[in-house]
Amino acid sequence: MAIKTPIYMDNHATTPMDPRVFEAMKPWFLETFGNAASRTHAYGWQAEAAVEDARDTIADLIGAKTGKEIVFTSGATESNNLALKGVAEYYASKGNHIITTVIEHKAVLDSCKRLQKQGCDVTYLPVGTDGIVDPDDVKKAITDKTVLVSVMLANNEVGTIQPIGEIGKITRERGVLLHCDAVQGVGKTPFDVTEMNVDLASITAHKMYGPKGVGALYVRRSKPRVRLVAQMDGGGHERGMRSGTLNVTGIVGFEKACKIMKEEGKADHERILGMRERLHKAINAKLDEVILNGHAEKRLAGNLNVSFSFVEGEGLMMAIKDVAVSSGSACTSASLEPSYVLRAMGLDEELAHSSIRFGIGRFNTDEEIDFVADLVTGKVQKLRDMSPLYEMHKEGIDLKSIQWAAH
Ligand SMILES: *Cc1c(COP(=O)(O)O)cnc(C)c1O
Repeated sequence: MAIKTPIYMDNHATTPMDPRVFEAMKPWFLETFGNAASRTHAYGWQAEAAVEDARDTIADLIGAKTGKEIVFTSGATESNNLALKGVAEYYASKGNHIITTVIEHKAVLDSCKRLQKQGCDVTYLPVGTDGIVDPDDVKKAITDKTVLVSVMLANNEVGTIQPIGEIGKITRERGVLLHCDAVQGVGKTPFDVTEMNVDLASITAHKMYGPKGVGALYVRRSKPRVRLVAQMDGGGHERGMRSGTLNVTGIVGFEKACKIMKEEGKADHERILGMRERLHKAINAKLDEVILNGHAEKRLAGNLNVSFSFVEGEGLMMAIKDVAVSSGSACTSASLEPSYVLRAMGLDEELAHSSIRFGIGRFNTDEEIDFVADLVTGKVQKLRDMSPLYEMHKEGIDLKSIQWAAH
């Protein structure tokens, strides 16, 4: 089969929609277009029924007790905002301390920053060089003022999977709520809000082959019943937690994406893991000085994040335009700093700049993996051939011992 470039290998940023999801959504654009809040006619009832079905399906995928615990949002950015700000506001009289980690998604970190401006205390826990947070650190950070701990299930850059179950034991024992940004992990690594004692969880459809612009916040209804203050005022939809007319078409697509995940997630996982190993092996077979970022095993099957020493990230990205990937380098993002996640894991700026995140997904193929492996190894080799530093390294010169002229 002919390969179409650029090959999409950025599945942590978004996933292509599964055609089966698109098929499920189609009638809901033009035919069954009712407002799920319309109580007076069949258009509304139909939409409402579809939405309630979707709640149950989504609840089932994450181990929630009932669909009533699912609050629909515009995506995980909103879910994270609602969880953090909504809980902080509701429980303000109980305490004002929140614990999170330095490698969370910006939607969590920026919400925390906002809360700090409003008088909250936030503890940002470090991670090890493997990108994993130590549950003991969570335990030590909890005070009698702590109301919420927020730790992600899997990191979007390095794919590391956090010990949510262990953290859940601690938070439950201490009577502190646990929020989990589960976006990257749902359907891809075991996640069960009941087993893991998670009280709030953010998910989004477009990271699991569903449409963009629709997500959900799981809000536990019993043992304990979680309360939060709505951050959007309006018609009191979603049990008063999130006003606004529901995106019924998107929700139908979200449900279909969850159903496919439930049925095919395991098989996907095996296939995707095989492709990741194939890529990693091919890279290691042709290149030396390639560093794997993040834990070797406790990581998403589709994630390969590697730094190519002696190669400048910007140059490499330019050279491999035939594959759509992300880099830890500043040039690909709005900020000037290299990836804060890689820096938090102790990577120096150089290596953070020379990192590439391959995000392999359901629709990638072995042929694409082989193409990408050839492309990347070829270009890295070429760039290194032009690098005096790599030459010196090959000659056995310790680069750290050299005194560089100031510039
Ligand atoms: C993509 C992502 C989000 C944001 O989700 P949106 O639906 O795009 O707003 C939040 N957290 C993580 C870990 C993500 O990867």
